[in-house]
Amino acid sequence: MRLNELTITEASDRLKNRDLSSVELTTACLDEIKKTDDKIKSFITVTENYALLQAEKADRKIKSGDEKDNLLLGIPCSIKDIILTKNVLTTAASNILKNYIPPYDATLISKLKNRGMVMLGKVNCDAFAHGSSTENSDFFTTHNPWDLERVPGGSSGGSASSVASDQCFYSIGTDTGGSIRQPAAFCGVVGLKPTYGRISRYGLISMTSSTDCPGIMAKNVSDAALLLKELAGKDKMDATSSDRKVDDYFEFIKNENIEGLKIGVPKEYFIEELDSKIKNAVQNAIEKLEKLGAEIVEISLPHTKYAVPTYYIIMPSEVSSNLARFDGIKYGYSEVKSQNSKVKSLEDVYLKSRANGFGSEAKRRIILGTYALSSGYYDAYYLQAQKARALIKKDFDNAFEKVDVIIIPTSPNVAFKIGEHSDNPLELYMEDIFLSAASLAGVPAISIPCGFAKPKNGNVEMPVGMQIIGKHFDEKTILKTANVYEKSGD
Ligand code: GLN
Repeated sequence: MRLNELTITEASDRLKNRDLSSVELTTACLDEIKKTDDKIKSFITVTENYALLQAEKADRKIKSGDEKDNLLLGIPCSIKDIILTKNVLTTAASNILKNYIPPYDATLISKLKNRGMVMLGKVNCDAFAHGSSTENSDFFTTHNPWDLERVPGGSSGGSASSVASDQCFYSIGTDTGGSIRQPAAFCGVVGLKPTYGRISRYGLISMTSSTDCPGIMAKNVSDAALLLKELAGKDKMDATSSDRKVDDYFEFIKNENIEGLKIGVPKEYFIEELDSKIKNAVQNAIEKLEKLGAEIVEISLPHTKYAVPTYYIIMPSEVSSNLARFDGIKYGYSEVKSQNSKVKSLEDVYLKSRANGFGSEAKRRIILGTYALSSGYYDAYYLQAQKARALIKKDFDNAFEKVDVIIIPTSPNVAFKIGEHSDNPLELYMEDIFLSAASLAGVPAISIPCGFAKPKNGNVEMPVGMQIIGKHFDEKTILKTANVYEKSGD
């Protein structure tokens, strides 16, 4: 096995035994990136020298024998380019931020730095995380490592492709309406969206502040559990972060007994539009968990059909407000400024920068959101959507009175071809059909691989993902269920 193919815990064991060094691990990842990234295109920025310096520093710490319990020390990762990294270009994959170098780190980056992370670089996504395929990146589309003609999913597509192709050991992404879970499913890796407020949002480039969740992509469930333990917790810089106790997820999931665990299977999710091969894969997984001791309970989440329309009112409303700060003057966008002679006024800079700097999807969302919030329409759209959101959340509260976790597919289809939906934004929005509800309700959800299926228009078997949704702040139970399934083998 090549070094970059190890999991975090395997690599960490070998680092601690001094049987390999962080510089070797980092070099193996950088070599893999050099070899494969002209085809996969995960990375917007590769921070090679910085990564090697961090690896040397980690090796010195390992040698000194300090931090024996720190399993992240010296492990290379990638970071979605929507998360601020001090002194390292952070673009949100948007032209309007193509020169932006943040003066500070996101809280989650500071936490990882304190644990000795090695950051290999910043990975591609849909611009401002608007999308499900990375085709909305203003720079380039990322390719699915399983079949280069297909999308890796999105918006955290570069995170998923970099983990799936062993260019790194783990990646940090964000999930606002599915952007960790869906690419994880498309690329056959583990993707964890924690409860809203479990990990600080400070230092994310905001999309939808009421659903934005930083989260984890990893090669297996226990690596995801390990990372959540490191990243979770109250942050005084994010008023919406929670001070609930952080569980030791990594230790907790070592108990593999799921005897009596109640798994809810909502009838609204096993619908006709669902590819039958995906349905079978998820149903087989549920049966397997039943054989291992879980009890299966049919449940109903009656407002499911309102989740996508509700999300596509609330999300653009918040997007239109969050993107208002990009005015072409702050955040280093210099294209218009450098043509000083042609600029008549600051208003001119503002209009030109926004016209040239935002891609068509960001503009579409700004316009939709401004409309939904405008006087005369607010009650019919935004207010109504907030009411629907309350009902969607209530569905989960009711269901979780009867069951411990809920299992559904992550996506109704496997990864689609690049270009297959790109001329119809509504088709892409429908990709979120199994994702939006958990985001609106703020509950935690994990996507794990549960087999393969051949797409209708292709010959390569592609990964299928299943989603395990839990109660607010009960990440430990979804991680445990996921771990039991993963350990049971295929
Ligand atoms: N696909 C969804 C969208 O386009 C979700 C994006 C996300 O979670 N960032 O908005």
